[in-house]
Amino acid sequence: MENSKTKFPVKVTMPPGLMKSSHSGKTYIIAGCMIPVPDGTTAEDMHKYVTYSPPKLDAKTWKVESSSGSTYTVTLRNGSFSCTCAGFKFYRKCKHVKKVADENR
Ligand SMILES: [Zn+2]
Repeated sequence: MENSKTKFPVKVTMPPGLMKSSHSGKTYIIAGCMIPVPDGTTAEDMHKYVTYSPPKLDAKTWKVESSSGSTYTVTLRNGSFSCTCAGFKFYRKCKHVKKVADENR
């Protein structure tokens, strides 16, 4: 079967992985979809067949200095804030996020 219709490299939005189907014996690149590639394709050859480009997210970041002198990164992505500090991981909110949210209202 010919796959001449497939134009390489295929643009994918997920990190590609290589898979050999035990069912058909064919080699595929898995990146959210299955892309048939020639037998013997290795991870080093993957760039010939797929281009990995992560989806562009509308993300904004701020550096926020805490009272203890550490700097944390607050990120706004898809309308929700996150912070790199331990408090945020635990409580899903923190004063850094609050500070940025207050300033960007
Ligand atoms: Zn924080």
